[in-house]
Amino acid sequence: MTVHPRSLVTGGAGFLGSHLCERLLNEGHEVLCVDNVYTGDKRNIYHLLHHPRFEFMRHDITFPLYVEVDAIYHLACPASPIHYQRDPVQTTKTAVMGTINMLGLAKRLKVPLLQASTSEVYGDPEVHPQPESYRGSVNPIGPRACYDEGKRCAETLCFDYHRQHGTAIKVVRIFNTYGPRMHPHDGRVISNFIGQALRGDPITLYGDGRQTRSFCYVDDLIEGLVRMMATGPSVTGPINLGNPAEITVVELAERIRRLTNTAAPLDYQPLPQDDPRQRQPDITLARQVLDWAPEVPLGEGLAATVAYFQEAGADHDVSARH
Ligand code: NAD
Ligand code: UDP
Ligand code: UDP
Repeated sequence: MTVHPRSLVTGGAGFLGSHLCERLLNEGHEVLCVDNVYTGDKRNIYHLLHHPRFEFMRHDITFPLYVEVDAIYHLACPASPIHYQRDPVQTTKTAVMGTINMLGLAKRLKVPLLQASTSEVYGDPEVHPQPESYRGSVNPIGPRACYDEGKRCAETLCFDYHRQHGTAIKVVRIFNTYGPRMHPHDGRVISNFIGQALRGDPITLYGDGRQTRSFCYVDDLIEGLVRMMATGPSVTGPINLGNPAEITVVELAERIRRLTNTAAPLDYQPLPQDDPRQRQPDITLARQVLDWAPEVPLGEGLAATVAYFQEAGADHDVSARH
């Protein structure tokens, strides 16, 4: 009988998690997807539900979880500002208590835990681009703090479980990632712009649109997660994963207008509080340790995302989801 490695993916019904489940199944893993479907969508994993090596468990990770697995990919957490600010206390609980439970599980089973951390731990950075050694500039009492500080505390917990209990940890700091199965109404810039362009609505630019972001295509990111988990026990991270190709928000709007062939006007709106001016990952470490770098150019990734939104658009009843 073949023995398949068993991977737990928390947040597996979400955007990144569903792609990761698919990738691990393709590599011959048994996948246990644990998700309370707070911001995820079962439609993201419908096509996997009958796979013989896939199992879905509806569970809130702020409560303990007793299962048997060989590796834990810990992705469960609302990730976009609209989602994580809807119930900020629950966001902090998920980031902190949820991570304690998953680390408790990793400690009991003596298996590695990959923590999906975020570039938001750098806050509104004074250093550009951001290397892992930069300690960040987070406003601890602002509206983004439930997520930023929650994720910072989750990193602290990972390193304390590692030092105190010898738990194998793999901390990756993920920068803005996009692709098929992004939430159509999560308020993120790429999903907003594509949705607006396809509907012919005005494109909402916050501030002067000259703030920058660096966007990584989902397949590249998943490759980085899998490579990180495959490293030896001495590799703990944190390691940045993202695409260093930086673009202003206004340039992004132009590219999406061209791709969707729309003449939608630009609608300038106020910049949200604590919105970082610039964000670009320094991926030197990922290149060295994981031999990883993004490969999918923005044009190609945006085209695939637009195609997904065109296909999914008609049957995505967002009001029913949120
Ligand atoms: P997502 O919202 O699509 O996925 C998160 C999943 O976690 C959802 O399916 C949600 O239902 C689930 N979840 C939330 N709270 C839970 C709880 N208490 N118990 C069980 N499940 C719960 O978001 P995503 O973009 O796929 O992000 C996945 C992870 O990657 C998150 O931890 C996020 O912080 C991190 N991340 C994502 C990005 C990005 O650009 N997408 C950037 C940085 C970090
Ligand atoms: N935990 C869990 N699954 C396990 C082991 C632990 O959910 O298989 C939870 C447990 O409920 C606890 C948390 O993880 O609240 C931290 O576990 P740890 O063993 O570190 O702490 P302790 O149980 O000693 O408080
Ligand atoms: N943004 C925008 N219009 C939108 C949504 C976002 O101009 O409709 C801007 C936002 O102010 C930010 C950037 O795009 O400067 C990226 O926003 P997003 O919420 O996608 O990601 P984050 O701020 O978390 O990097």
